[in-house]
Amino acid sequence: MHCPFCQTADTKVVDSRLVAEGGQVRRRRECQQCKERFTTFEVAELLLPRVIKQDGSREPFDEEKLRAGLQRALEKRPVSIEDIEAAINQIKYFLQAMGEREVDSRIVGEKVMEVLRQLDGVAYVRFASVYRSFKDIDEFRAELDRLEKDPSQ
Ligand SMILES: [Zn+2]
Repeated sequence: MHCPFCQTADTKVVDSRLVAEGGQVRRRRECQQCKERFTTFEVAELLLPRVIKQDGSREPFDEEKLRAGLQRALEKRPVSIEDIEAAINQIKYFLQAMGEREVDSRIVGEKVMEVLRQLDGVAYVRFASVYRSFKDIDEFRAELDRLEKDPSQ
C-alpha cells in the first residue's frame, strides 16, 4: 500500500479492527518515510452470477433493478427501508451461495417471491400474480408500468 502523502511503498499497519458488524476491516497505517497516518478499509468482494434471460442473453445481476422492483411491489406497505435492504441482501447471499457463474432469471424471480412472501403478503401477491404469467422480470416491470398508468385495469 503506497502512502497517499509521499507515495512511498513503505507503510506499516499500526492497528486493525473489525467494523460494520464484522463486514469490514479498518486498518490504520503509518508511512515509514513521512510518518503520516492514514486509514484503509477492506471488504470482501462477493461476485454475483450473471443472469440468463429468457431469450438466452446474459446480463450482470442488477441490484438497483431488484431494489426498484421490490420498492414498487412494497409501495405504500408498512415495510421499512431496513427490511427491504435485508431482503436484497438475503437474495444476494442466496445467489452467491449457489456458486454458479450464471443463473437462470427464473431462479432469481422465484427467490424474490419467496423473500417477499416472508416480508409482506400483499406485496407478494402483487409481485407473484403478475410475475408468474411473465417470462422474465423485464416483462413484469413493463406490466407494472402499464398498471401504474392505468390503475383501473
Ligand atoms: Zn509518506
